[in-house]
Amino acid sequence: MMIATKDLQHLFAQIAEDISAQRDHLCELDGAIGDGDHGLAMDAGCEAAAKAVGALDSAQAAPTAVFNTAAKAFLNAVGASSGPLYATAFMRAGAAAKDRLELTDDDFLRAFAAMAQGIQERGKAEPGEKTMVDAWKPAADAALEAWQSGTPLPQCFEMAERSARQGCEATRDMTAAKGRASRLGDRVIGHIDPGAASAVVIITAMAKFTRHRDG
Ligand code: ADP
Ligand code: MG
Repeated sequence: MMIATKDLQHLFAQIAEDISAQRDHLCELDGAIGDGDHGLAMDAGCEAAAKAVGALDSAQAAPTAVFNTAAKAFLNAVGASSGPLYATAFMRAGAAAKDRLELTDDDFLRAFAAMAQGIQERGKAEPGEKTMVDAWKPAADAALEAWQSGTPLPQCFEMAERSARQGCEATRDMTAAKGRASRLGDRVIGHIDPGAASAVVIITAMAKFTRHRDG
């Protein structure tokens, strides 16, 4: 079954709902090793993205326009460093979906992988530097690897979700090499990275989306 603009509108609405439910928790995580605004930033960004995407005419707008609209809305709504990171992620997903009227499972998986790559290139963070890359990169790698060996999309995303959770949990033992937390040295050890935690929420929403499509 193909993924159409209407489906992507539902996905963005779901992401906004799930991030909103975690807003205070994400702020608490950021309060421990940053400036405490990560939940507010992600909530504002995802809400703006869902609203802008929801306003598109699904009969007229192609998937690439959905992602590009989300990118612009997210960037405009967020002043924190997560703003340009997710704007880049959505732009890259838009580029991956270019010229498609609807997305195949392969297109969707590649859009997902492009998001991870975009975040990594925009922020120039490597795995192990206690950022959202520690959730995004293992998730994308796991999904791509599973997909290339013939695994159906929902199971690929199940693996992505699991890898993201493990990656996020692993940030607890890391010192930070990027972002605000990098100024705190060893004091950040024992705390998970807020950006990795919000990445888990988004990847989990995407996994849920792929499961529900296939019933
Ligand atoms: P700010 O630090 O500007 O307040 P947020 O609180 O919205 O921004 O986001 C903080 C999160 O951004 C961090 O937890 C980390 O995951 C992520 N982050 C910061 N810098 C980078 C980077 N260079 N690459 C990837 N992720 C980053
Ligand atoms: Mg912050």
